[in-house]
Amino acid sequence: MSDRRPAPTASLASPLQPGVERDPRPGLAGAAPESLLAWLLACGEPAYRARQVADALWRRHASTVDEMRTLPAALRTELAAAWRVDTLVESSVRPADRGLTEKALHRLDDGRLVESVLMRYPRRPGRRERATVCISSQAGCAVGCPFCATGELGFGRDLAVAEIVDQVRFWARELAGDGRHVTNVVFMGMGEPLLNVDAVLSAAAALTDPDRFALGGRHVTISTSGVIPGIERLTELRPPWTLAVSLHAARPSLRDVLVPLNRRYPVEEVVAAATAYARATGRRVSYEYVMIDGVNDTAADAAAVAALLRGRLVHVNLIPMNPVAHTAWLPSSPARVEAFAAALLAAGIPTTVRRNRGDEIGAACGQLAAERAGLPAPSAVQRRRELEVGAGAAALSDGRS
Ligand code: SF4
Repeated sequence: MSDRRPAPTASLASPLQPGVERDPRPGLAGAAPESLLAWLLACGEPAYRARQVADALWRRHASTVDEMRTLPAALRTELAAAWRVDTLVESSVRPADRGLTEKALHRLDDGRLVESVLMRYPRRPGRRERATVCISSQAGCAVGCPFCATGELGFGRDLAVAEIVDQVRFWARELAGDGRHVTNVVFMGMGEPLLNVDAVLSAAAALTDPDRFALGGRHVTISTSGVIPGIERLTELRPPWTLAVSLHAARPSLRDVLVPLNRRYPVEEVVAAATAYARATGRRVSYEYVMIDGVNDTAADAAAVAALLRGRLVHVNLIPMNPVAHTAWLPSSPARVEAFAAALLAAGIPTTVRRNRGDEIGAACGQLAAERAGLPAPSAVQRRRELEVGAGAAALSDGRS
């Protein structure tokens, strides 16, 4: 159910209540085509029903069985008993940027909340209109990057394939209302995609399958904070998707703080794995770098990034940090961002600065869900600030003198 009121109200349920019963029916959009066909045949239906179900699901983005009007009533009843046409129980949309950005908070069957964001890019000279959807792959996240609101929530659970692709179908339905469609999907919402790698790979396959969502392979981006086994899985598959690595620091001691997964998968090894992906696929790897004032935006940091990435098939995106409640850190100033970009460009590294979309609606991942979950107690916020600022300062000074 889509609620397009300007701001969400308390209508969405709070996160998981102990003892809540899950809906046992799997999500229809997560079914592999051969499984769906086998189920229809077992129901005594002709094979062509599979095409009719797929059309309703992937072309008309049906969210209820009643919208599958090409199917006979008896089959719709059987479908509804066995499958969920939409795994998003309830959604609430918040617009920003004069309607160019919209953020949705979705409630799942167990009460957990996940977010997705639609970013519209109007037509420009030489550039077609685009509608990019940023989706979540997990409820919460175990990586715990200190500048990220999702990290503050902790890990909830992995999302199922249908729960991932239903976020895209949600926005496809919204866009269809004004004759538009989703042109790009980025796995950059809540969660670490490559820690839910099976579901993420299946979801990306469904989104780029010509018989299902039919998005061009190059229009899908999978991000990771550096899960090397997941990058290696991608390299073996050689998909046409773009790999994005959340870098945020090139100096290991600082990256240990900003991306705690660095202690398990060190940054040099992550870059080596990503470079193997670039070699195998011929696809440029995108490196995301959230810029935090006085923490990772110095000339020494730029030099470290240049030394790490020079001569590789890469593109660097600099993103001024979104302020979040639990840290004392602030976004880098435009002047510092420009100086950082200039240093990377001078080292021959293609670099762009990405403006954060929808700051005022909490576009930092997990921010809306964090609001819903209730902000942490002031004493916990203070303790965390002290720890992080202390750790950041220690890492900052490391190797500087
Ligand atoms: S930035 Fe990404 S990987 Fe890090 S805590 Fe947030 S969601 Fe997880």
